Amino acid sequence: MADFPDHSGALAALVGQSSGPIELSPDPVNTAMIRHWVEAMGDTNPVYTDHDAAVAAGYPGIVAPATMLQAWIMRGLKHTLDLEAARAAGNAPKGDANSQMMALFDEEGRTSVVATNCDQEYFRPLVLGDRLLVKSSIESISDPKQTGLGHGRFATSLMEFFAVPNDAVTKDLTNEQLAERGALVGTMRFRILKFRPGTGAVAPKAKPPRPRPAITQDNAFYFEGTLAGELRIQRCTDCGALRHPPLPACGKCASLNWDYVVSEGRGELLSMVVNHFPQVPAFDYPLPIGLIALDEGTRIVANLAGEPGDWTIGDRVVAEIVRFDDELALPVFHHETKEA
Ligand SMILES: [Zn+2]
Repeated sequence: MADFPDHSGALAALVGQSSGPIELSPDPVNTAMIRHWVEAMGDTNPVYTDHDAAVAAGYPGIVAPATMLQAWIMRGLKHTLDLEAARAAGNAPKGDANSQMMALFDEEGRTSVVATNCDQEYFRPLVLGDRLLVKSSIESISDPKQTGLGHGRFATSLMEFFAVPNDAVTKDLTNEQLAERGALVGTMRFRILKFRPGTGAVAPKAKPPRPRPAITQDNAFYFEGTLAGELRIQRCTDCGALRHPPLPACGKCASLNWDYVVSEGRGELLSMVVNHFPQVPAFDYPLPIGLIALDEGTRIVANLAGEPGDWTIGDRVVAEIVRFDDELALPVFHHETKEA
């Protein structure tokens, strides 16, 4: 695993800092945006669309749904395109605390992101003509934590929403000055987890069974044999040649007549490969696989026990019939010991 830097100090210095300039909503709270919103949400509460109903409910007039809070500030596609164009022209906005934080997370190897939760608080209803301002800052950054998704840090952004009457907005006042004169109408805390991909807790899964062989009338004797603890090798009853894997006809004399012998399971390792990829969950890796010359005079491909490094071409081997489950047993070759 790569060694990543620990940016705890630099990240701690960003807590409490602004994520960028205070932004002013493009439009005052208005009936058109409210109507589109409540129609999309299926919210039929008349206080959002009917002045008299709103007054009867104790409001000064139509109010905006509280959950529209962020909708008033959203900048839309043009803003994004303008930003992209500025970046392409080398005029990217100077890094704010939020983009600095994201860059530090990335350097720590935490390149994956997931939004974890969003909390909103509302302090007074938004009424027609309110103009919103939002001030964003970094509220907290956690120490590194091991989570189910991966090794990461939680970061919470705080957005504070202020409202001023629309006619208070003039070119003479900066957004900062406007926000100071405004009333705090709501907050939103948005929390993300930035984590290192591939470092999450993997739920232990039951190992799936080994893949089933395709049993045919030609090879059934072999798999019945292993289940009975025998390594059966097909033999031509006309010329006596052994053959493996099982086939319908003799490769030497073409006879269709055959029976089998039970091999002692002893032989020599002729060749081997180590399977690293692709990995199938039913097997353990690295998976050494040997080509064995059986003493009876035919060859067989089978798993080798132990680690790949345990094996040298020419090693003497002996088969152990391993029963993997109720339906499947296969030979696995070990080193032949002197006393065996
Ligand atoms: Zn034959």
